Amino acid sequence: MTKHKLVMIPGPTPVVRSIQDELGRETVAFGDPAFVKDHKELTEALKKMFSCDGEAFVIAGTGTLGMETAVANTTKRGDHVLICSNGYFGDRFVGLCQRKGLNVDVLQAVWGTSVTPEEVEEKLKAKHYAAVLVTHVDTSTGVCAPVGDISRVVHRYEDTLLIVDGVCATGGIPEDMAELDIDLLFTGSQKAFGVPPGLTMIWANQKALARRKALGTIPEYYCDLELWTPIMQDPSKYFATPAVNMVWALKEGVRIIQEEGLEARYARHRRNAAAMQAALEALGLTLLAEEKYRAVTLSNLIYPDGVDDAKFRAAVYEEGITVGGGLGAYAGKMFRMGHMGNIDEHDMCAALSAVERALVKVGYNFQPGVGVGTLIQHLAR
Ligand SMILES: *Cc1c(COP(=O)(O)O)cnc(C)c1O
Repeated sequence: MTKHKLVMIPGPTPVVRSIQDELGRETVAFGDPAFVKDHKELTEALKKMFSCDGEAFVIAGTGTLGMETAVANTTKRGDHVLICSNGYFGDRFVGLCQRKGLNVDVLQAVWGTSVTPEEVEEKLKAKHYAAVLVTHVDTSTGVCAPVGDISRVVHRYEDTLLIVDGVCATGGIPEDMAELDIDLLFTGSQKAFGVPPGLTMIWANQKALARRKALGTIPEYYCDLELWTPIMQDPSKYFATPAVNMVWALKEGVRIIQEEGLEARYARHRRNAAAMQAALEALGLTLLAEEKYRAVTLSNLIYPDGVDDAKFRAAVYEEGITVGGGLGAYAGKMFRMGHMGNIDEHDMCAALSAVERALVKVGYNFQPGVGVGTLIQHLAR
C-alpha cells in the first residue's frame, strides 16, 4: 500500500481538495467574461487583504519572479540599495541586484539572528538608498525579521522604499501594508497561501507605483508593472496569457483565508508553531532561530549528535512525510519543517509522529511519544 504523502517542507505546502479541484476545471479563454470577473475579484480581494492603496498583481511565475519584479520596478542602474540578509534568501537579493548594476550594501546577520533596526539606521544615516530590502521570514534559518521596527527607521528617510520578501510569511503572519508601512510586498502561491506553485503575488502601494512611473522605460519586459497595471484593472485585456486554472486555485485559496479570517489564521499559525517547536525540542532537537526572532511558519532543527541527515530524511520520507534539508553551512546538519498554510491538527500530529518513527529507525536514543505528547498537550491548551 502506498502511503499518503504529506509535504511538510517550506513550500509547496499541502493543497486542500477544494483548491485542487480548481486545477481540474475545464480551462476557458482568458477573455471569458466569467474568468475576467473572477480575476478582477481576486486582485480586489488581495488588495483589501493587506490594505494596499496601490495595485495587487497576480503573475505566472514563482517567488523569485516576485524578487526580480520588486527590484526592477523600484530601482535603476547606479542606485544604492540596502539588503538586510538573515540567510540564503536575503543573500539571493545581492546577486540579483548586482546583475542590475545597483550599488549594493549588505547587512548580514549571523544565521539564527536578525539584522536590527539600529544597524539599518546606521546605514541610512550615512547614505541615501533608493530601497531597503528585507526578507520577512528567511526560510533557510527560520528567522522572522522585525519588519515593523525596520520600517519605522526606513520611513524617517524620504524617498527610500521598503521592499519586503514575504514568500515564507504572507498569509501566515501579519503584513498589513498600511500598518507596517510596506511599499512593496510579494509572495509565491505555494507557501502560506497553500496553493500549488506557479503564481507570484505582488502588492505595490502608491509610493512604489509613483517610483515605477518616475523610472520611465525599464529594461525588463515581462516583469514591468506598468505593462501589468492595465491588465489587473481590466483582465479582459491581453498582455501575457494568465494561468487560468492557477488564478482560480488562488481565488479559492483566498476564499479559504477570508472564511477563516486573517486574525484567526495568524493565531492558528502562532499556536501550531508553539506546539510544534516545543515538541521538537522535547525530542532533543535544537531550533536554529533565536527565540525572539523565531518564525511561526516553519522550524529549522539542528540534529542531535549521531543522527545522520540523509538517513533521517529518507526514513521520514518512507513514513510518508517530506521535510526539507539544511542550506548553506547547515546542509547535512539540519532539517526544515514547514507548518504554514492550510494544515490542521491531523497534519501536525501525523508529521511529528513520522519524525519520531524516523528517529527510532535511525537508532536515536529517546522516549518515543515524548514529542507527540508535548504537541497534544500544547494543542489542548
Ligand atoms: C521560497 C522562497 C523564495 C523563492 O520562491 P520560489 O517560489 O521558489 O521562486 C524567496 N524568498 C523566500 C523567503 C522563500 O522562502
